[in-house]
Amino acid sequence: MGKAILAIDQGTTSSRALVFDIDGNQLGLGQHELTQHFPNNGWVEHDADEIWSTTLASCQAAMIAANIQTADILCIGITNQRESTVIWDRSTGNPIHMAIVWQDRRTSDYCAALKRQQDTISDIQDKTGLLLDPYFSATKIRWILDNVPDARARANRGELAFGTIDSWLLWKLTGGKSHFTDATNASRTMLFNIRSQCWDEDLLTLFEVPASVLPEVKDCSAAFGTTESSHFGAPIPITGMIGDQQSAAFGQGCFQQGMAKSTYGTGSFLLLNTGTDVLNSQNQLLSTVAYRLNGEPTYAIEGSIFMAGATMQWIRDGLKLIEDAADSEALAEQSRNDLSVYLIPAFTGLGAPYWDPDARGALLGMTRDTGIKEVVTAALMSVCYQTKDLVEAIAADGAQLSTLRVDGGMVKNNYLLQKLADVLDAEVHRPAITETTALGAAYMAGLHQGVFDSLDAIAAKWRLERAFTPQRDEDWRSRQYAGWQDGVARIRSQR
Ligand code: ADP
Repeated sequence: MGKAILAIDQGTTSSRALVFDIDGNQLGLGQHELTQHFPNNGWVEHDADEIWSTTLASCQAAMIAANIQTADILCIGITNQRESTVIWDRSTGNPIHMAIVWQDRRTSDYCAALKRQQDTISDIQDKTGLLLDPYFSATKIRWILDNVPDARARANRGELAFGTIDSWLLWKLTGGKSHFTDATNASRTMLFNIRSQCWDEDLLTLFEVPASVLPEVKDCSAAFGTTESSHFGAPIPITGMIGDQQSAAFGQGCFQQGMAKSTYGTGSFLLLNTGTDVLNSQNQLLSTVAYRLNGEPTYAIEGSIFMAGATMQWIRDGLKLIEDAADSEALAEQSRNDLSVYLIPAFTGLGAPYWDPDARGALLGMTRDTGIKEVVTAALMSVCYQTKDLVEAIAADGAQLSTLRVDGGMVKNNYLLQKLADVLDAEVHRPAITETTALGAAYMAGLHQGVFDSLDAIAAKWRLERAFTPQRDEDWRSRQYAGWQDGVARIRSQR
C-alpha cells in the first residue's frame, strides 16, 4: 500500500471524506447526510456536533473503503462550507448554539440598517472584498453573542471560541488543542482585512465581536495540529485548510492570473484568479483570498449563480418534463435549433450582477411549436447566459477570463458545455478528476508535507478529459445574448 492523503469535505448537505493517493487518484469515499434545521422563516441551522460526528464517521468510512491503515495517511486536508458560524465553550468543547448556516437570513434587518451608512459599506468592501450581507459570519457571531444568555459576558472573559467549520473541525480533531483558521475562510467572515491579512479592529468594533473569540489565521498549507490518537488510533498531522470554492479552484490548478473555475452544482460559483491584485468590484462581485502560501496571498474575484442544477431539478420535479437531469442532454440535442426560447430562472430573484431580490422568473419567446425539448434547452441555456453575465461583470471590473475549467454535477452534460463555450467565446475544459473540492484540500495538505514540491508540480497533475471550443461566430453570440438581456430587462422589479 502506497502513501495517501485524507481530505475532509464538509459541505452544506453532507459531510464527506476522500482518500487520495499522491498522484491525486481517488482511493475511497465516505459520506453522511447532514440534517437541515429551519427553525424560523429564513433561518437555517446545523447541529455542530452532528457536523463533527458525521465528519469523523466519513473519515473512518473512507479509510475502510480505500483499504488503508492510519499509518498510510501522510496528512489531512480540510475543506468546508464557508461562512457558517459556530461558537463553543473553550473548556468543554460544547457549542453554545446551533451552527448558523451561510444561507441564514436572520440578520438581514440589522444589515439593512447598517447599509444606510454609505461610508460603512465602502469601508467594508475595501477591507474585506465583501458586500454587507447576512451571508457572512460577522453578523451571525453578533447574533449568537446577543441572544444566548450570558454569552457576551463569557466571550469577554475569554471563555468562548468562534470558528467557521474548518476551525470547529480542527478543534474537535485535535481534542481542543488547535484554534486556527486559514486565510480563505477568514476572508469570508467580514472581520478580516484581506489586504493587511489581519483581523480588523474597526470591523470587530462595528460588529461587536470581541477579539478573544477569534482563531489565529494561518496560511492554507501549514502545521495546524495533529489528530487526537483516539480518533484514528494514532496521530495524523493536519496540514491543509481552505474554503470549498477556493479549494475547487486550487484542485483545478488555477494558479495563474486569469485562470478561472466554475462549479455547476445546485447553484454555481465562478472564481477567477486575480493574482496579487484585489479588485474592488463595481459590479457587486466579491473579492476574496484564493489561497495563501508562505504568507503571500493570491486573490480571486467571485460571482455566484443561485439557480444552476436547481433549474434542472425544477424542470424534473416541478414541471415533471424529464425523469432524470441527465435526460436533458439528449432532449436538447433534438430541440429546434434556433434557441429563441429563454428561461430566466429568477425564482429567488437575480444574483450578480443584477442583485434584484424581487425579480421573478419567466419563460419567453415561445411559439406554437415550442415543446418540452425547447423548454429543457432553455433551462440549460440559462446556465450559460448567467455565466456570461458573471464573465461580463468580471471584465467590466478589469479582469479577463482566459479559459474556464469546470466541475460539479452538471458538467457531465456535453451539450451544456459546448453551448457554454459558444456563449462565452472561451475554451471550456473538463478535467479527468472532477472531485476538485476535496482534491484541492488534499493538495494543500500534501504541499506542506513535501508530497508535492511546488505549485508547478500540482499544476502538472491536472489532466484534461475534454475541451469544448467555441463553434459559433460573434453574430450568433451577440444575437443570442441580446435576447437574454432583453428577457432579464423585462423581469426586473424596477426598470
Ligand atoms: P451539489 O453539490 O450542489 O449538491 P452536484 O454537484 O452534485 O450538486 O450536482 C447536482 C446538480 O446537477 C443537480 O441539481 C442536478 O439537477 C444537476 N445535474 C446532474 N446531472 C446533470 C446533467 N447530466 N445535466 C444537467 N444537469 C445535471
